[in-house]
Amino acid sequence: MGSTRRVQAARRRPPRNRGAVQARLREVERRLRDAYGRPRHHNPKDPLDDLIFVVLSRMTQEVKYLRTYRALREHLPSWDTVRDAPLGGLEEILGDAGLAPTKARQIQAILKEVEHREGTLDLSRLRAMSDDEVEKYLTSLPGVATKTARCVMLYTLDRDACPVDAHVWRIARRLGIAPETAAWSDRRGRELEERIPTGLRASLHVTLVSHGRQICLARNPRCGACTLADLCPSATATRGGSSDGS
Ligand code: SF4
Repeated sequence: MGSTRRVQAARRRPPRNRGAVQARLREVERRLRDAYGRPRHHNPKDPLDDLIFVVLSRMTQEVKYLRTYRALREHLPSWDTVRDAPLGGLEEILGDAGLAPTKARQIQAILKEVEHREGTLDLSRLRAMSDDEVEKYLTSLPGVATKTARCVMLYTLDRDACPVDAHVWRIARRLGIAPETAAWSDRRGRELEERIPTGLRASLHVTLVSHGRQICLARNPRCGACTLADLCPSATATRGGSSDGS
């Protein structure tokens, strides 16, 4: 193997220690920020709006949950009307998003609990809380998991959070930053997030989501068009599969 190829192979090896992982993540964040900027992925800016938006997005394609959220706001413009809507009618509006019966029940339960705690359907009070307090508050709402809570913290409260969703987990595994054979779990997601240097977490989340949707697809990743290919241990294996996503 020539020296250039040896250097290239060394760059692609998974980083082994904490310092190397952090250096790799800094480089990944810089390149993805150059490529995608700071996308918001259509998340609303108000915490309660975003919480319901994130619940709707669970296990659903982007095009469908965007359409469903729009339909919900058109048919039932205030959260009071959503809370009081007949369950069957709400399920019908949410039908496009998948898991409509579960999501309809969960959304009404969340709204009732927020009103019970706050005396109003408004989560603005979270803005003044610490990260730990916000996470504790949100994850104690009906059916709200850590990933959902951290999405709300990132998109509406400007917290430096990197919720580890399917895109983030898949790309981290391919880059050798998360264990290659381990399945995602809440705990593993938090462990991964804690390895990301502070100040980079929010940026990495939003850009990894873009990268996962456009380039590092679940099937047939477009390694030939990837800005991370020279750092990625999976690039060689997948480059032959498809370099154009077709
Ligand atoms: S090189 Fe391929 S597998 Fe690696 S991050 Fe890029 S698209 Fe994903």
